[in-house]
Amino acid sequence: MRITALAGGVGGARFVRGLRHHLDTTPGLADSEVTVVANTGDDITLFGLRVCPDVDTLLYTLGDGVEESQGWGRADESHTVQTELAAYGAQPQWFTLGDRDLGTHVVRSQLLGQGWTPSQVTARLADRWGLPGRRIRLLPMTDAPVETHVVVEDGDGETAIHFQEWWVRHQTSVPARRFVVAGLDRAAAAPGVLDAIRTADVVLLPPSNPVVSIGIVLGVAGVRDVLRGTTAPVVGVSPIISGRPVRGHADACLTAIGVESTAGAVAGLYEDFLDAWLVDPADGDVRLPRARVEVFDGPLLMTDVPAAGRIAAHALRLATTVTA
Ligand code: GDP
Ligand code: CA
Repeated sequence: MRITALAGGVGGARFVRGLRHHLDTTPGLADSEVTVVANTGDDITLFGLRVCPDVDTLLYTLGDGVEESQGWGRADESHTVQTELAAYGAQPQWFTLGDRDLGTHVVRSQLLGQGWTPSQVTARLADRWGLPGRRIRLLPMTDAPVETHVVVEDGDGETAIHFQEWWVRHQTSVPARRFVVAGLDRAAAAPGVLDAIRTADVVLLPPSNPVVSIGIVLGVAGVRDVLRGTTAPVVGVSPIISGRPVRGHADACLTAIGVESTAGAVAGLYEDFLDAWLVDPADGDVRLPRARVEVFDGPLLMTDVPAAGRIAAHALRLATTVTA
């Protein structure tokens, strides 16, 4: 089976890790190939280094190197370099950069500086984390520079700040008026992305942030069209339970684009291509005009790898019951 998933950071990575666990522990499914198309709109340049938070979270989670308690960053991390940077008064100091994590950013920046494309760099980083051996192909959504910016109130006017500044520094406490995704209108899909959707047996939407993760991937030229056109069923998992995101501030993002934070309203964002939608028992009353809604038989929570695996397994079963 060929499975393609669109993913942000923590929600996407935990889901794909569970999916891989399910495939590897189910007779006949271990040979399945998983392609992950990662959001790169969160990318930012800090201290001259290119940082790709969602790609890195996918690498560390799928390569067993993630700090489990927070869902991102490296396990057994230290912060010596960041302490030195602070001693120099170097800015910004609101973004956590651990020493091990910095190794990734240094290698990435070095290779980019030598002319490698982001796809090539990601493949190289994925090798180190053993992803090909786990039958996971990690693709950035595009090789073009794309950065999600957030337009916020500023006195009587407004100003645009980088998504990370809004999310990490302000914890979304300043209301977003809208998102402006620099470079997205000129971004072509990275090599392999459109084919992975077109030729998949199943396309999965993990419970990633619908606005600033999945929503950005959907903005890459051609992605939405191939999702509409693919013969693969497209099955999504709700990131919202009972009107609230499970973690993070997806509600602040949905408010900014005028969409309710409900499982049904999020599915509405995918209405033109979604075939089935997996929800928590608390959202069992959701009805969609086109997609089949299925209620998961327990909390829709990826509390550990097997739990995420059961959610992924349910999504795969659901895919066999719908037509694209
Ligand atoms: P980020 O880039 O690190 O913010 O991660 P993603 O965009 O991939 O995922 C964030 C989304 O995942 C948030 O909207 C969360 O509500 C959702 N999420 C995280 N953990 C879970 C979970 O265990 N179950 C469900 N249903 N959603 C989750
Ligand atoms: Ca992210």
